[in-house]
Amino acid sequence: MSEALLVADRLRKEYRLPGGTSLVAVDGISFTVGEGRALGIVGESGSGKTTVARMLVGLVRQDSGSVAVAGRVRGAKPPRGRAARLGRAREVQMVFQDPYVSLDPRLTARRCLTTALRLHDREDALADGLLEQVGLGTREAGARPHELSGGQRQRLAIARALAVDPRVLVLDEAVAALDVSIQAQILQLLGEIRRETGVALVFVSHDLAVVQHITDDVLVMRRGAAVEQGATGAVLAAPEHPYTRRLLASVPRPGWDPSAVPA
Ligand code: ADP
Ligand code: MG
Repeated sequence: MSEALLVADRLRKEYRLPGGTSLVAVDGISFTVGEGRALGIVGESGSGKTTVARMLVGLVRQDSGSVAVAGRVRGAKPPRGRAARLGRAREVQMVFQDPYVSLDPRLTARRCLTTALRLHDREDALADGLLEQVGLGTREAGARPHELSGGQRQRLAIARALAVDPRVLVLDEAVAALDVSIQAQILQLLGEIRRETGVALVFVSHDLAVVQHITDDVLVMRRGAAVEQGATGAVLAAPEHPYTRRLLASVPRPGWDPSAVPA
């Protein structure tokens, strides 16, 4: 048993909607992730996955419940002071579906990384190791986001997240916009990274095929609640909830195997 690095305890979020109504987007979600382990959060669109992901990083403030990393509870409010904010960012980093939105279009890949490194008082020279770690070469190092392919942009977004040496990496539909073969390469890369660095992964996806190959445990969400959670292999081999069975049945890729894809 690996020690719990990330602990989410009874997270709840209700959005106030115009007209005085409200919507419970997340209700009573709890899980733990050990160091170097990977949790998948799956569910159909609107089930509350992104809201959970955003609560983990602090982009959405929960109404109740808590998130703790390495035994320290993360306050629902961003902390005051530069050191505390940077320390909090080092705990959990996020990778989004569309790196175009989160990458500065003016910066080359290398500059993007040195900017993140400097912000955290780390040396520029670490950028080269990060580029190598995510499989970007010297040509890509000098390229701006629009000069990179979708897969390369997502590699850069992962490198930037790793630049602060986080304990936890949260990926929200991070391969959803990529072709299947490129998806497999990115998943393989993430597997290598977690083995090498011990970073824990929270992998959010509507796609069970993607989660299947990269996670140890899975949490199946429906309408804000967990319908099923446990070891990925066990849940997918014998899903107890009809909703999970339905999600599994919609997986359209017989024989899809990322380990068969050349790196
Ligand atoms: P998923 O990522 O699984 O598609 P989300 O967490 O994005 O789910 O959304 C869960 C529910 O909360 C959906 O019904 C969505 O419309 C609603 N929701 C998400 N963000 C907001 C927001 N900022 N304001 C109001 N409702 C929201
Ligand atoms: Mg989402």
